Amino acid sequence: MSLMSTVPSVPRRLVVSGAGSGIGRATAELARERGWSVLGLDLAEDRRAGIIACDITDEGSVRDAFARVDEVWEGAAPDALTHCAGVYRFRPALETTAEAWDAVLAINARGSLLVASAAARRMREGGGGSVTLLSSIGAARGDAGEPSAAYSASKGAVESLTRQLAVEWGPYGIRCNAVAPGVIDTPMTTVSGDPGAFEQVLRRIPARRLGTAEEVARVCLFLASAESAYVSGTIIAVDGGQSAS
Ligand code: NAP
Repeated sequence: MSLMSTVPSVPRRLVVSGAGSGIGRATAELARERGWSVLGLDLAEDRRAGIIACDITDEGSVRDAFARVDEVWEGAAPDALTHCAGVYRFRPALETTAEAWDAVLAINARGSLLVASAAARRMREGGGGSVTLLSSIGAARGDAGEPSAAYSASKGAVESLTRQLAVEWGPYGIRCNAVAPGVIDTPMTTVSGDPGAFEQVLRRIPARRLGTAEEVARVCLFLASAESAYVSGTIIAVDGGQSAS
């Protein structure tokens, strides 16, 4: 057996969740430009954009969506997964009900496990692969300006899960990493409305600007590809230096 990772040096099949918007859409588009065959998952089906309907919180929906992936790729396993589907809901801790907490955790934490596992079952059969989850700067830092206890905790769960999956799945040739974006200009970002709040956010970012979805996508594709063949169990910040400040 080759000592090199089984992830192919020539890009092949990539599944991107959350492919209808923001970072997921940018990752799917950039991957196609670079020659990957890409299938997207999102709440809303979009055949023209290669997006299969999938509610990532629901085991049956994830199972059905991956059955469609199998159909399209005629049983060939994905080489990589970039799992971007997620939600951010502004809500301070004292206003967080059990229901609100569970809703965010179901999407960001449970969804990560369900989608990663569906991909990994196929990658194990296919001889290996790469799973990239999306964390956030919020996993490691409290946010006084726009607090969301459930969101931060859900991303803490994503980071722990990343390390656990890297250890559990490493023997199958599957790498697992996470990208932790800072403030990225996508539909999820809510700071743009109020100019005062926006200035405050910029002051906390050493780069003094928001990141773009494509800047995060580039790092996701590095992790998906053989360029990162010996990188596993790590969290890469893409935040203009914010987590260092
Ligand atoms: P986005 O533009 O809102 O895209 C998220 C996508 O996930 C949307 O297409 C959304 O569909 C989909 N989605 C939500 N719930 C889903 C579900 N139950 N099943 C399937 N799909 C679902 O967000 P983004 O900015 O690209 O964020 C992507 C990832 O990066 C998220 O995990 C986010 O937490 C993380 N992140 C983003 C930032 C940032 O500043 N943007 C910072 C740190 C981390 P609908 O639009 O139909 O709801």
